[in-house]
Amino acid sequence: MDNKTKLKQNLATIQSNIAKALLKNGKKSTDITIIAVSKTIGSDIAKLAFDLGIRDFGENRTQELNQKKQFIKEANWHMIGRLQTNKVKEVVGVADLIHSLDRWNLAEEINKRGRLLNIEVPVLVQVNIAGEEQKAGIEPNDVEEFLDSLGQLSNIKVYGLMTMAPFMENNEGTRPIFRELFYLKEKLKNNIYKNVEFKYLSMGMSQDYEIAIEEGSNMVRIGSALFDF
Ligand SMILES: *Cc1c(COP(=O)(O)O)cnc(C)c1O
Repeated sequence: MDNKTKLKQNLATIQSNIAKALLKNGKKSTDITIIAVSKTIGSDIAKLAFDLGIRDFGENRTQELNQKKQFIKEANWHMIGRLQTNKVKEVVGVADLIHSLDRWNLAEEINKRGRLLNIEVPVLVQVNIAGEEQKAGIEPNDVEEFLDSLGQLSNIKVYGLMTMAPFMENNEGTRPIFRELFYLKEKLKNNIYKNVEFKYLSMGMSQDYEIAIEEGSNMVRIGSALFDF
C-alpha cells in the first residue's frame, strides 16, 4: 500500500473514532481540531496529510516547525513541546498557537518578543494534572493565579489549557486526568481575565484521544496513530 492510501485509511479510522467519542461526551465539545503531530516524519509525508485535508500540524522543536512551515505555509502550525526561553524568537510570529506555556519567565520572554513584533501571541497554558515530577506544566491549584498574572502581559492572548497524560498500560487511567482539566476550565470560565478566552482544551494523543474527547477535549494532538510508517 502506498503512503497516501495508508494515511487516508488512518485518517478515516481516527475520524470515525472521534465521531463515536463525540456521541458519548454529552455535548461537552462539538468541533474537534485534529493536530497531526509531524515530529517523526518528513515534510513530504506532511504534505500528503495536507492534501488529505489536514490543516493543523504540531511540532515539538522550533527548527523543525520553521522548516516544515516553509514547506506548507497554508497550514496552522502548533508548537506543542517544551519551549526554552532562548528559542522563543524562533517561534513567536511563526507558530499559530503555542501549547506549552508552563512558567512565568517563559511568558515574559514570549511577551517581550510579541511586543517587538507588535503582535498578540496566541498561547495555551500547560497544566500538570498528573503531578508527575518530570512533566512540565503549572500545578492545577496555581493556574488561577497564573492567569491573573498574565493580565500584565499585553502581548499574550491565552486561548485555553493543555495537558499531557502519562503513558498508561490501560488508557482508561487517563480519564480522571482529562476530566479534571475539563472541570478546572469550567471553574475558571466564571472568572474575569484580561487576556483569556477559553476556546481550546488541548488534550489527547494517539493512545487516549477518544477518552479525552469523551471528557470534553476539542483539540487532539495525534502522531503515531496517523503516521505509523
Ligand atoms: C509527540 C507528542 C504528541 C503525539 O504523540 P503520539 O502518541 O505519537 O500521538 C502529542 N503531544 C505532544 C506534546 C507530543 O510531544
